[in-house]
Amino acid sequence: MELSNYQNTNTYHNATHAADVLQATSFFLNSETVAQMVQDNHATAALIAATVHDLDHPGRGNAFLINTRQRLALLYNDQSVLENHHVALAFQLTLAQNGINIFAKMQREEFIQMRQSIIDMVLATDMSRHFEYLTKFQQVIPNLPDLDENRESNSMTVCRMMIKCADIANPTREWKLCAQWARRIVEEYFFQTAEEREKGLPLTMKGFERETCNVPMTQCTFVDMFAREAFTLWCDFAEIPQLLNQLETNYEKWKSMSTNWEPSQNVDLMISKPA
Ligand SMILES: [Zn+2]
Repeated sequence: MELSNYQNTNTYHNATHAADVLQATSFFLNSETVAQMVQDNHATAALIAATVHDLDHPGRGNAFLINTRQRLALLYNDQSVLENHHVALAFQLTLAQNGINIFAKMQREEFIQMRQSIIDMVLATDMSRHFEYLTKFQQVIPNLPDLDENRESNSMTVCRMMIKCADIANPTREWKLCAQWARRIVEEYFFQTAEEREKGLPLTMKGFERETCNVPMTQCTFVDMFAREAFTLWCDFAEIPQLLNQLETNYEKWKSMSTNWEPSQNVDLMISKPA
């Protein structure tokens, strides 16, 4: 997989984000409880899924692609457009040449299973279905110790939750990285909003306008809406309480910064460092 298949002009959705999610996934797999529940073939699939999960991301979200009726939206019928594209392209690229086919040595059945797991996990990163996956994970946790029953499907439920948490792990990183990733994603959203304004399209990421945005507030909102609940469940399960502690420490920092944030600080988030 060439790095060039990630778009390095994106401030957020670039190869470094993929590497970051891969690192988080690998870290999670090192947890004893996670390792116990996740089958070996699923662990391998998870590492590959993390690596390719945002391949060729255009720096615009699903809603934007749908509103602008882009080729990918039409191809995937407006359903998990980007996630379908990331994983489809990954397989197209690796299967295109024998020399770069990482699955070349696999038996047919083994490949089909591996492919199914990778597709499943990448599709799980679609945030519009966030609460579905969370609920499902919550439902199976109490039954997980009964290893024999539903072992395979439980392993996949854990993997879906794992890659989702790896994908939104920015608020659990040490402050310096947390702040850097926040600046990067907000900057990418600013560009999207600007294009939507220019073309008279609906604004798909409300609040992300350079002229008015309170950046620290957006991060508190993300934690309140998505990250805290996900990491409360995940950190408890994986026995990694330090991540949840870091999330709360970062949250308090954002909260105190939000009170005197000036939109003038949004001129270029990649240069002006709010940290
Ligand atoms: Zn991602």
